[in-house]
Amino acid sequence: MNHTRDTIYVDGAWIASTGTGTLPVTNPFTEEVIGTVPEGTPEDVDKAAKAARRAFEEWSQVSLDDRVKACTQIAEGLQARQQEIALSAATEMGAPWQIAVMVQAGLPIISFASQEDLVRHLDWESTSGNSLLVRQPVGVVGAITPWNYPLHQIAAKVAPALAAGCSVVVKPSELVPGVAYILAEVMHEIGLPAGLFNLVPGVGPVVGEAIASHPLVDMVSFTGSTRAGRRVAELAAAGPKRTSLELGGKSASILLDDLTGDALTNALAGSLTGCLINSGQTCSALTRLLVPRAVIDEVLGNLEVFVQFAPMGDPLDPATQQGPLVSKVQQERVRDYIRSAVDDGARLVAGGPEQPENLPKGFFVKPTVLLAEAGTRIEQEEVFGPVLTVVPYDGGDEEAIRIANGTPYGLSGAVWGADRERAIRVARRLRTGQVGVNGGVFNPTAPFGGFGQSGYGRELGALGLEEFTAITSLQL
Ligand code: NAD
Repeated sequence: MNHTRDTIYVDGAWIASTGTGTLPVTNPFTEEVIGTVPEGTPEDVDKAAKAARRAFEEWSQVSLDDRVKACTQIAEGLQARQQEIALSAATEMGAPWQIAVMVQAGLPIISFASQEDLVRHLDWESTSGNSLLVRQPVGVVGAITPWNYPLHQIAAKVAPALAAGCSVVVKPSELVPGVAYILAEVMHEIGLPAGLFNLVPGVGPVVGEAIASHPLVDMVSFTGSTRAGRRVAELAAAGPKRTSLELGGKSASILLDDLTGDALTNALAGSLTGCLINSGQTCSALTRLLVPRAVIDEVLGNLEVFVQFAPMGDPLDPATQQGPLVSKVQQERVRDYIRSAVDDGARLVAGGPEQPENLPKGFFVKPTVLLAEAGTRIEQEEVFGPVLTVVPYDGGDEEAIRIANGTPYGLSGAVWGADRERAIRVARRLRTGQVGVNGGVFNPTAPFGGFGQSGYGRELGALGLEEFTAITSLQL
């Protein structure tokens, strides 16, 4: 598979960047540089934004049927290349093979394919008194995305944007750009109007900031860290232009005190999976496990055993459940968090900061379980690696809710209880965008987004489509 690209995709053509720099692409399992992509420039963004503006004038007038048809064709194009997309994600970011196929390559297909249904059900026109409310596409959309679900995060923006009638300029993560190129190739082969989809790779402070501040970009949809999201919103505010921010998280999984026996064991297994999925590099990961203090010893004993069933290894081996982290920087960052948590008094239950003995190479971090009190740094800050913090609580549901809501974030969560109605009552009180009750699984057509420092705006589903529209009221 080729990981070297020497062009960017602008105005329907593969062209050279106006700059001469390149950015390395590294395989986190072998630690080798396996390719390069052009380091885009603000001039590239300017060309892309102008092309997108021209394309928008036409595309916004295209019928809904034709926009849906384009999304369906893109879904089919991605489907035909699902294995290749999975291989790209597994090689450039270390996603374990099963996740690479089902999630990294599978979810984007759903995002494009689901537009048909979403478009049909959206109220494109409605009335209010003497007014006809008409929904219009918001305009040129700038999409800035991270590396952890590199194609899903692009598709979650581009699919509804195109369906709504918008055009897009995408800046993929500089660490994992390959899947974005495959998407651009699919778009190119379908023969979408020139300028509708533009791809400018590059680093955040240059290409990302140029997109966020470009006067022809009407909306910036950003997914990434809270730090970079703040900067994007700051730049967009000068427009001002619409922003949507999908940021970090520190999501809590609450075990209620009526859980016993198998139900408790299942809740633990489900919670741990929700923490370790994609080698712990998931914004909505269940990284805090809130446990009634009375059962803490039983829970820790089980977790110590369960983490051994998450084998680390070559991402391309279908048996692997934990791949390497995306980069050396990320590996060091996660290890530092583990070390400093222990220095701060957390108990190391399983895992630890050392390189796994059987894997001397690769940016691996062992699945790690820590026991820490609410309010400590490891309980408050996003680690973005395979690290579960178990947090004991004493005061029943109210205290669990208070601890769950007690970080600056609010992206996801889970509640597990023998009494389902009680679990739902607790779930309703969580200040977070998504909550799984007793193992309720991720729904790719339910709105996804955050409270607090996890950002604002919603992706996926009907609300994810609405995000790319604006209402004009015709007074009649
Ligand atoms: P990051 O913020 O470093 O990078 C994300 C994107 O923003 C990249 O394309 C990067 O180049 C760009 N960027 C960086 N600085 C920028 C700037 N000053 N201006 C404009 N763009 C800039 O994040 P990351 O390390 O790639 O991803 C991990 C983070 O993303 C975690 O915090 C994670 O929680 C978050 N995330 C959130 C969601 C969500 O939906 N809420 C999903 C996935 C990841």
